[in-house]
Amino acid sequence: MDEFEIRRDRMVTEQIQRRGITKTAVLEAMRAVPRHFFVPRELRENAYSDNPLPIGSGQTISQPYIVAYMTSLLDLKGNEKVLEVGTGSGYQAAILSLLAGQVHTTELIPDLAARSAETLRDLGYDNVIVHQSDGSLGWEPCAPYDAILVTASAPKVPAPLLEQLTPEGRLVLPVGSRGMQWLELWQQKNGGWQPEVMLPVAFVPLRGAHGWSNWED
Ligand code: SAM
Repeated sequence: MDEFEIRRDRMVTEQIQRRGITKTAVLEAMRAVPRHFFVPRELRENAYSDNPLPIGSGQTISQPYIVAYMTSLLDLKGNEKVLEVGTGSGYQAAILSLLAGQVHTTELIPDLAARSAETLRDLGYDNVIVHQSDGSLGWEPCAPYDAILVTASAPKVPAPLLEQLTPEGRLVLPVGSRGMQWLELWQQKNGGWQPEVMLPVAFVPLRGAHGWSNWED
């Protein structure tokens, strides 16, 4: 094992398993994806620490535990078509790519979309397609999705995302105020979409048509 693999293994044991994530496939994916290639070069030494990190353009790569927790909630079996909103560094998309059949991921900021697409391609995550677009509208051309994961916080659940899910689909997203949100899991129950409130979190804002309008505040 190289030094980064050792740190990654420790990250999974101490930050993720110890906090109660038990799904073997999720733990294996978190052990497999080299997170240090998704952070800026000068932050590689911190890639496996227990916190989010800046990735440029005022955005962040999420804390490893939150990535694992959100991924776990999707309950993927291996063949699903998944949409991620908020590609950022591409790290979460890489994790999803090991657990699903195909991953579409949308990023609003052109520079981040281009960089993450390059990183994912260089590392061989060939079942991930990066779209530079407003993901608060979902990604209509490839809908419906078995699962949708939003990694930026919304004022309320964007209607297009529910419309682009299969009837058995799952949507995981942070919803709340600008400073603090709750992670919600949406599924159809008794013929309608219902949220289950899971965990308090703090994400950067979702922008675009169904996001925060005054996001530069
Ligand atoms: N999943 C990312 C990763 O693994 O690095 C972290 C995402 S970061 C917490 C949130 C991302 O959502 C930012 O890159 C931001 O530019 C993006 N974002 C915000 N609003 C968006 C929108 N309407 N459509 C697509 N991406 C958006």
